[in-house]
Amino acid sequence: MTVDTTVTVRVPAKVNLQLAVGPRREDGFHALVNVFHAVSLFDEVTVKAASPRRPRALTALTATGQSESHLARVPLDERNLAARAAILLAEETGAGHPVDLHLDKRIPVAGGMAGGSADAAAALVACDLLWGCGISRESLLGLAARLGSDVAFGLVGATAVGTGRGELLEPMTSPGRYRWVFALSPRGLSTADVFGEYDRLRPDAPEPRLDSGLEKALAEGDAVALGASLSNDLQPAALSLLPELGRTLDAGRSAGALGAQVSGSGPTCAFLVGGGGEDPAVVGEREAAVVAALRATGLCEQVIGADGDVPGATVV
Ligand code: ATP
Repeated sequence: MTVDTTVTVRVPAKVNLQLAVGPRREDGFHALVNVFHAVSLFDEVTVKAASPRRPRALTALTATGQSESHLARVPLDERNLAARAAILLAEETGAGHPVDLHLDKRIPVAGGMAGGSADAAAALVACDLLWGCGISRESLLGLAARLGSDVAFGLVGATAVGTGRGELLEPMTSPGRYRWVFALSPRGLSTADVFGEYDRLRPDAPEPRLDSGLEKALAEGDAVALGASLSNDLQPAALSLLPELGRTLDAGRSAGALGAQVSGSGPTCAFLVGGGGEDPAVVGEREAAVVAALRATGLCEQVIGADGDVPGATVV
């Protein structure tokens, strides 16, 4: 039997199709209804067996990526969610000969696309394989939920609804394939700051509920209805902290996007430009118009196209 000494796992970013946020709970978390949709912006996490004489499960953590400003926000120590995932798996299984962990980041950092959570999901899958733990899918999902609300979705991918604090996941019926444009901001927004602003703006938030219109649009693969159903309760808070996002959203809408909203806690803005059964030429034209309008604002660090949905963490 050959033993792998290096494992690479590719993991997608997410965009929220609905993010309904309830009141703050006693444990400090908010009740959420969070419709996650995995899109083809990927990080790759590589784990490599290190010298067995090293004393700890995780010996080195490195990161590369397209954007220096985004990389500068990635902690390269045990605050990194991927590192925490490797350490948690080692503790839980008693496995864990030393590994070096490398992140190749394409998902915007602190952009509201759950890049850190995606890396944690990928690290769980990669270390499980490298260490030969063979833990069940259910246990892996349990560890993911302990690491953070969005980590389990990194394992599952596709389109799913999260309830509780977002970690109780149910797949959703979504046969359509959609085209998205993402406007990355040169600034980061802290998730905690955005929730703090949300509490200030909406102290009387109602209990969150899944939008049946969104459910229907997804089940029918109707891109126009999907665009009209996008919603994000955190958007007013993100706009309050970073008002220029309003101009970015307006630019994409005016150029013909079917739907536009801040992704998660922002500041990345997501534009649905088509899909379902639409003519690909029509979608392509709409995408080009939206991309050009976003670039013309001068507000975006990068404008990127991507498809959704795509599968979760996958060994490459
Ligand atoms: P979410 O959408 O889940 O709220 P986000 O997409 O806004 O998250 P992340 O890219 O996950 O944000 O990063 C949030 C913060 O987490 C970063 O500013 C960084 O300090 C920290 N962090 C920890 N691990 C990672 C990682 N592997 N990649 C990126 N950031 C990480």
